[in-house]
Amino acid sequence: MIGSINPTNGAVLAEYDLHDPGEVDAALNSAAIAQAAWRKKPVEKRVELLSAMARELRAGKDHFAQLITEEMGKPVTEAAGEIEKCAVTCEYYNEAAPRFLAEETIASNATHSGVVFDPLGVVLAIMPWNYPFWQFFRFAAPALAAGNGVILKHASNVPACAEAIEALMTRAGCPEGLMRNLRVSVPKVADLIADDRIAAVTLTGSTEVGQTVAAQAGASLKKQVLELGGSDPFIVLADADLGAAAETAVKARFINVGQSCVNAKRFIVEKSVAEEFTKLFAAGIARLKVGNPMDAETQIGPMARANLRAELHDQVERSVAAGARIVMGGAPIDGPGYFYAPTLLDKVTPGQAAFGEELFGPVASIIEAADAQEAVMLANASEFGLGAAVWTRDLGRARDIARAIDAGAVFINGMVASDARLPFGGIKKSGYGRELGSYGIREFTNIKTLWIG
Ligand code: NAP
Repeated sequence: MIGSINPTNGAVLAEYDLHDPGEVDAALNSAAIAQAAWRKKPVEKRVELLSAMARELRAGKDHFAQLITEEMGKPVTEAAGEIEKCAVTCEYYNEAAPRFLAEETIASNATHSGVVFDPLGVVLAIMPWNYPFWQFFRFAAPALAAGNGVILKHASNVPACAEAIEALMTRAGCPEGLMRNLRVSVPKVADLIADDRIAAVTLTGSTEVGQTVAAQAGASLKKQVLELGGSDPFIVLADADLGAAAETAVKARFINVGQSCVNAKRFIVEKSVAEEFTKLFAAGIARLKVGNPMDAETQIGPMARANLRAELHDQVERSVAAGARIVMGGAPIDGPGYFYAPTLLDKVTPGQAAFGEELFGPVASIIEAADAQEAVMLANASEFGLGAAVWTRDLGRARDIARAIDAGAVFINGMVASDARLPFGGIKKSGYGRELGSYGIREFTNIKTLWIG
């Protein structure tokens, strides 16, 4: 049994039975059968499903947004934006997948040679709660277009979202069994990974779970894509437009109540402008509207679960004990719900939790750097390598810095965000593989060489 709890007030929304072994077996069988038929359809036919998915997402946008907000607490306006982004991504692959999967000719000694892109089979998608629709659709739209089937194991705190996704797929005309949502306990996920009817695995989640899933998939030699945690640096150099940097910094850190893998988490600021930047940043944070996430104006709702808030507060307390200073916030907000005050720490240094660990909530950390060189060194002094931002008016220098940073994406004078057209993913303990763009759709294909003598 898993329960869905409203983080705004702690009320139990609903309880769900887990699927029993017989149901899991039947779902895997029908997924395998459905995928065998699906892969035979030409990609131009398969992508029709994606336009229908986009239509269904838009038709249910308000309802889905409310569901997300009820289950995990993100402000409802952001939840509606999440649904729109899913629809845009389905439309993007509807248009782009036939191009990305077209046969490529590569000259060799053969009369004709090149590659074709075949699907891998049924892919197990282990997904997190923080973007309960987006994380699924950014993987599933290209994976289905490429001819794969999908088994979803969603996070236990968003079972209603998972059900709604499955129902939406059915309404969109997804062939029976091709996409199934399975509620299974964590210990049973290993059996799914090992099952012969599962060809590959994608996980979006924490680094710790990534290590477990990678080992299990590795034991069966199954392809994996791992989208894991991050502690993205946001470098502000002395010549940056400080006003614009501070305004973007607020959004980059506090969107999704600070619970996004690519939230900027470590603000590495050149010493000569640190005081000024901190002042502007703090003023922006103070303007954030904290409240009921169902109100359209709210920018900061509750965190998703009580244990996540407790973990975040422990990280803040350990950082302060190690020398960080609270500029504002720094504590849970009294009352019902799992609210945490938007927090700014300064005097954060290597060795503190706020520097070395991922803080998955509304807490920003300011780290001073003597110069640009030290800023890059501090940015790279992390076990993570997901995204990074660099703020400076000198674009030549920014490009050099971008190349020196260990991350899957560097944004200059902007904030890191995913975009269906651009590849997304990390290095180091942020995972491997890419989603989105042309690179993402090929992850779950067999890049097959075709040689004709
Ligand atoms: P999580 O605890 O790692 O959970 C992610 C998923 O893995 C859930 O479905 C969870 O199921 C499942 N899971 C947990 N333990 C497992 C195990 N031993 N074997 C197999 N599956 C297991 O992560 P989260 O707290 O939901 O999400 C937050 C983390 O995700 C953060 O670190 C964040 O940075 C990362 N994230 C990364 C990206 C990216 O694109 N790089 C995007 C979003 C989030 P249960 O819910 O049943 O435990």
